[in-house]
Amino acid sequence: MEIVKKEERKVDSVELVEKYLKDESYRDALIIQSDILGLSRNFLHDKGFIEYLPVIVSTITDPLNKDVFEAQIDYYGYKYYITKSMIVQKQVGILVHDKIFSFSPNLRLEREEKAQSGRHLIDFVQLDLEVKNAKRNDIMDLMEDLIIYVIKNIIQTYPNLIRKYHPTLKIPNKPFSKISVKEAKKIYGDDYERILSEKATEPVWLIDMPIEEREFYDKQNPFEPDTLLDFDLIYPEGFGESISGGEREYEYEQIVKRIKLKGNNLENYDDYLKIAKKGYLQPSAGCGIGIERFTRYILGLEHIEKTRLFAKIPGKFSI
Ligand code: AMP
Ligand code: MG
Repeated sequence: MEIVKKEERKVDSVELVEKYLKDESYRDALIIQSDILGLSRNFLHDKGFIEYLPVIVSTITDPLNKDVFEAQIDYYGYKYYITKSMIVQKQVGILVHDKIFSFSPNLRLEREEKAQSGRHLIDFVQLDLEVKNAKRNDIMDLMEDLIIYVIKNIIQTYPNLIRKYHPTLKIPNKPFSKISVKEAKKIYGDDYERILSEKATEPVWLIDMPIEEREFYDKQNPFEPDTLLDFDLIYPEGFGESISGGEREYEYEQIVKRIKLKGNNLENYDDYLKIAKKGYLQPSAGCGIGIERFTRYILGLEHIEKTRLFAKIPGKFSI
């Protein structure tokens, strides 16, 4: 697609700084976000997780069959991808430590239409975690506890900020409810995710994604081969998707089959497939939760742009 340069895409750095100084919601969001980071980190350390430093460039990244522009850099004639997610690195990481996490910066050059969603940036951070030999339910259970722990502590520490920004915020009840994509489509139609989020008053799990809708690395359900052993968490009150995750494919033949099914080129996964062919990959499950979206939800903010400094809104230029 040709990118049209528009006049309004000029960066106005002074305007940006003045906005930060005038509008205290930026400062408030950063206070809450700093606690989200600290609380999540403590929670995972207590559960025996090891924090890994994130990878920004690699010869391989998430294929992410979504509508985003490619982001590559040339280095001495070689091609590096900028991380869209650390899924492949996590599958290797769990061979070194069983339980790992990273606050991973992701670059996804989203189309400018996504600016209206209120929940898309092109440069965001996800708390990305993976556990060796875990099942889907283990990760869902862990994330319910993490979300409850973070929200409970934030409500206790900052009652005034929550009253000011998101007075209807509640500590969710465990277990969160679950609905399969098939069931959700039957009840709500094709726009099921939006409707589900708008109707919900507590976070809700969407499970069993159709195989053609997701990436090759989410594990195929052997008992229901047209679906995956994966999940999304949907925030209530219309805040949309919070988490994606699932069990992973780790067997060479199955990975090859899934890459082909997706219509992807096997050569692009050479480095990864070599490891899989040697039999090094192990069963695992994991997920990623967007930090800016978590901040937006907790404060009930209209747009994700408020949740960080130097936010990059799809289609706009910014410092
Ligand atoms: P994914 O694996 O693509 O679902 O990404 C993991 C999580 O990162 C999502 O569930 C969101 O919370 C967050 N996320 C994904 N894309 C974006 C985006 N463009 N802007 C902000 N957060 C995002
Ligand atoms: Mg997702």
